[in-house]
Amino acid sequence: MYCYTCQSDEQHRRLTADEKSWLKNRTGRKTVEEFFMCTAPGCRNLRTGFQKHPFDPVIRVPLP
Ligand SMILES: [Zn+2]
Repeated sequence: MYCYTCQSDEQHRRLTADEKSWLKNRTGRKTVEEFFMCTAPGCRNLRTGFQKHPFDPVIRVPLP
C-alpha cells in the first residue's frame, strides 16, 4: 500500500493489541481495526485500507 510519508508503496501490517490500545487513547476512537502501520525502517506511519492520509498531521506509532 502507498505510504503518505514514505511517498512510495511500502509494506504495512495490522496493529498489535498494545498499539491498538495506544491509538484508541490517542484518537478517542472506539475502534481502530481499520488501521495499518507502515513497516519501512523508521516510518511507522498510520493509514487505513482506504485512506492513505487519515490524519493531518500524520500519526506515527511510537516504538515500544
Ligand atoms: Zn512509510
